Amino acid sequence: MGENTMIATRGLTKVYGEKVAVNHLDLSINEGEIFGLLGPNGAGKTTTILMLLGLTEPTLGEATINGIDCTRNSIQVKRITGYLPDNVGFYPDMTGRENLRFTGRLNGLDGKKMESKIDDLLERVGMTYAQHQKTGTYSKGMRQRLGIADVLMKDPKVIIMDEPTLGLDPEGMREFLTLIKQLSVEDGRTVLVSSHQLYQIQQICDRVGIFVSGSLVAAGKIEDLGRQLAKEGHYTLEVAAYPCDDRFLGFIHNMTGVTGIEKEGDKFVVHSSRDLRKEITGFLGTNRYTLLHLRQKGGDLDEIYRCYFEKAGQDEKHEQENKNGKHIFGTKQTKK
Ligand code: ATP
Repeated sequence: MGENTMIATRGLTKVYGEKVAVNHLDLSINEGEIFGLLGPNGAGKTTTILMLLGLTEPTLGEATINGIDCTRNSIQVKRITGYLPDNVGFYPDMTGRENLRFTGRLNGLDGKKMESKIDDLLERVGMTYAQHQKTGTYSKGMRQRLGIADVLMKDPKVIIMDEPTLGLDPEGMREFLTLIKQLSVEDGRTVLVSSHQLYQIQQICDRVGIFVSGSLVAAGKIEDLGRQLAKEGHYTLEVAAYPCDDRFLGFIHNMTGVTGIEKEGDKFVVHSSRDLRKEITGFLGTNRYTLLHLRQKGGDLDEIYRCYFEKAGQDEKHEQENKNGKHIFGTKQTKK
């Protein structure tokens, strides 16, 4: 564990009956960092968060925040950790300001100090205008922004957010992401944000962890994950040619190393385990096709995510088939 590690898990595991929801998770998040825990529904993100907050006990392993054990000393952990669930619950018949007062009192604040803190926070999240409106009438975006103000009432070192951008419109999303970024850049807080909305979240994260079926299959800076994939032999090529006929598609389909082909508009997107560019351009030249577009993709989060999913899926399949004593054949898919 590094000197400035704020959140750490070692072998953190949660099993529900037969289901391994979180599988030996080793995670280390630095102070002041925004870390994105990314994965599809059911990957184990919420379960991880619940263990960090001491709301559910791990089956194995341990988690600490600022060196404090999340299971044994959950009250201490909660003192320094703010939690924003995917659907923040406020008292709907109370105004935004009254809701913040309620949280303030729970955290030992009162009087002028509390009122001035509320003023500052409402201002910060852009909710001063709606402070006297009942929260039952708030939109999702307004609730999320008030949710940040609510979390900040106790001035936490660490903020954990579960799918915070779900259901926000593009404008609301942009504003909300800016707010999250400020929590780290301006305040130096550590932020753990879980999401399956890759594009949005990647814009603000210092590092991401990709979670698939309870396991962290990759973690790091987005550009490092992209480089790592290229080293491991994951290539994605966009290619368009005229004529775009069955012969051309058949050629790509039969190339060694091709693991998948998708059609995107007038382009083919080809996934492979090796660089195909030379062979494809050779085929096009020899057969008098016109090359319209050729681009090796890589490095963007969507691509990284897809590759790691594929890898995790293959590993699982290998494991399953090894168990069943079956031989494995590669599959090729053509989606039109
Ligand atoms: P989502 O975004 O859909 O909430 P997630 O990545 O947060 O997904 P979890 O909610 O942590 O995933 O769920 C991980 C797995 O554990 C899922 O298969 C889920 O069905 C299972 N699971 C979660 N909570 C329980 C529980 N209390 N009892 C049994 N199984 C559970």
